[in-house]
Amino acid sequence: MEKPLNHLDTVLIHAGEPWPLIEGAVTLPIFQSATFQHQGETGYYEQRYVRLSNTPNHVALHQKLAAAERGQSALVTASGMAAISTTLLTLLKPGDHILAQDCLYGGTYDLLTIEFPRLGIEVDFIDGDNPFSWPARLKKNTRAIYVETISNPLMQVPDLKAVVRFARENQLISIIDNTFASPVNFRPPEFGFDLSLHSATKYLNGHSDIAAGAIIGRADLIERISRTLSHLGGALDPHACFLLHRGLKTLGLRVRHQNQTALTLARFLEGHPKVAAVNYPGLERHPHHRRARELFDGFGGMLSFELKGGLEAAETFISKLSLAVYAPSLGGVESLVTRPAASSHAGMTPEQRQRAGISDSLVRFSVGLEAADDLIADFQRALAFV
Ligand code: PLP
Repeated sequence: MEKPLNHLDTVLIHAGEPWPLIEGAVTLPIFQSATFQHQGETGYYEQRYVRLSNTPNHVALHQKLAAAERGQSALVTASGMAAISTTLLTLLKPGDHILAQDCLYGGTYDLLTIEFPRLGIEVDFIDGDNPFSWPARLKKNTRAIYVETISNPLMQVPDLKAVVRFARENQLISIIDNTFASPVNFRPPEFGFDLSLHSATKYLNGHSDIAAGAIIGRADLIERISRTLSHLGGALDPHACFLLHRGLKTLGLRVRHQNQTALTLARFLEGHPKVAAVNYPGLERHPHHRRARELFDGFGGMLSFELKGGLEAAETFISKLSLAVYAPSLGGVESLVTRPAASSHAGMTPEQRQRAGISDSLVRFSVGLEAADDLIADFQRALAFV
């Protein structure tokens, strides 16, 4: 019987689920087995083995994730960085060159600038907002272009349509880290991106209780990446697959709620006399608001801001919050607050951070599922100490 899977919310519940149900179990059980009895498989990659990412928990999850972004195929990994590193190490070899957006998650920046030079892979950074500047950075050995849907931590939205166009015109593979938007707000394959990457540790799982990654997009590329993953060993454990699978079912509800609360908080902060600047693409005065409105179904649950009192004020504010936990990471049901200069981007030098526009006093807030009124009351109280 064909299921109508027209809306993302239905896809998140039903896509990839086994039919008939296994022993009638409504929830896909955890197949906590490293290896599986031979059933006539002939090739190495057909054998069912946990590091080959082909246990029943992996297969179901891959189908659900591919359907969520309308990609051809998907693959889960042991962390977001495993998704990013395995993808790039599959597509790039010594002597190759990649163009990357100049403001990226700190771990990705470190991978590109610390690990890749050792491997003979070159990187040049581009302003995601200025496509006219990209051709000058192109080289004969450029193979890929890499951006983030909403950049961490400044919430910039690159010219995503231009990225896809530029990649096609120059035979580059287009790769986007879609962690901050999630499939609820943006589905990169629909816009022509070759590969969409996620730290599934964040919104996809949503409960801050596992590390996981996901790669969604072109089936031919994902098959190659899956082989590299089996060589490098970054497969996701079946129990973590189960938790990610469970988290995905509520993704739509969670992210739409977080979109709404984040906009309410951003508007509150924008109007507060102790706040110097707010970075949130849902605000009309955000430099990329029009682009975000055109491309996204929502503006996400992440925002960052500067207080007029600088670093001291930021530290006081964070220490006086009672609901948000002072912790790195994002995308969970509980609000989290951090200073990127001291956490996600601490691996960069102060000069690199300054060039990327990340000040020591920038506060980043990941909106959870608490009521907006309570979060605002907490902000109001903490701001009174600043
Ligand atoms: N991409 C983005 C945008 C992130 O924020 C993070 C982690 O914070 C990662 C990738 C890396 O993910 P993980 O910590 O799951 O390896």
